[in-house]
Amino acid sequence: MRPNIRRLKPYASARSEFSGEATVFLDANENPYNGPYNRYPDPLQRELKAGIGKLKQVAQENIFLGNGSDEAIDLLFRAFCEPRTDNVVAIEPTYGMYKVCADINDVEYRKVLLDGRFRFSARALLDASDEHTKLAFLCSPNNPTGNNLEKEEIKSLLRTFEGLVVLDEAYCDFSDAGSMAAELSHYPNLVILQTFSKAWGCAAIRLGMAFASMEVIEVLNNIKYPYNVNRLTQEEALRMLRKDADKKAWVETLKAERRRLERLVAPLPCTVELFPSDANFFLVRVTDANALYGYLVDHGIIVRNRHSVSLCGNCLRITVGTEEEDNALVGALRKWSEEHCLTKG
Ligand SMILES: *Cc1c(COP(=O)(O)O)cnc(C)c1O
Repeated sequence: MRPNIRRLKPYASARSEFSGEATVFLDANENPYNGPYNRYPDPLQRELKAGIGKLKQVAQENIFLGNGSDEAIDLLFRAFCEPRTDNVVAIEPTYGMYKVCADINDVEYRKVLLDGRFRFSARALLDASDEHTKLAFLCSPNNPTGNNLEKEEIKSLLRTFEGLVVLDEAYCDFSDAGSMAAELSHYPNLVILQTFSKAWGCAAIRLGMAFASMEVIEVLNNIKYPYNVNRLTQEEALRMLRKDADKKAWVETLKAERRRLERLVAPLPCTVELFPSDANFFLVRVTDANALYGYLVDHGIIVRNRHSVSLCGNCLRITVGTEEEDNALVGALRKWSEEHCLTKG
């Protein structure tokens, strides 16, 4: 932990100083009118954590909630990485926010390339690290490659790396490999990130979760903005937890739709290689990603052009949509192929 964070006396908000039963609240300079939104929300989101903890089988003291996973990523840098001194390691390619947060916090970011099948090596991450390496970033299923990282390799890193291993599970609901949350008690250096933005269909409410040891969670709670998760978000997330069955149905629909879309895209003349996915998107190498991306934009269809990303030359990342949306995409891909590719077979 950074020395200034170790020494920090956290801000004590009116709402965190008092917890208990009362009827007259004259402690926070709030307006008494316009209930319930006149009141500051629970800074520790206790009711929501109880619901999430029950669903995920994680104790409340092991849960941090933030304004998206992005908040947890930023707070990990701010708590554990001394600017211009410490560094972090991460698999490459992966989610772009780890590097952006490292740059904002002036912390060196060391990329360790995945192999040709997008697998990572704990050894390679360790070799890239030194006594100033505080965090190691993994993402499984990985974005933008779509594949799961191997569990035994993750465990090997957890056993040998002396800093925190941040395992981003934003897409774990779509994967048969599931979550490693049940392993938290075995690995005090494991930090798991999950989010309401993908499987839960709640990207707009901005709610991210971090699961970790009580000690790490306490540090994150001490340095976060006091009311980082607003009341509307807490209410909507609680409502969604009661619709758990809807979320499960969406996940099953999207997994089946991904397989259907993969079967349609794989044989198209524009497709060079379609990479196996455990998420709600897949990566596909095409004959000319920049040209195809531009063509799709002109036809009102936006995918993610990953051409300039390591190991992803001429690759597009395609999110699974509704059947109708996906059919529109396939139609456009077919049309472009007819004009720009020699037909296969
Ligand atoms: C989409 C995504 C997230 C979600 O971030 P939020 O800030 O919670 O919306 C986190 N990690 C990865 C790898 C993602 O692709």
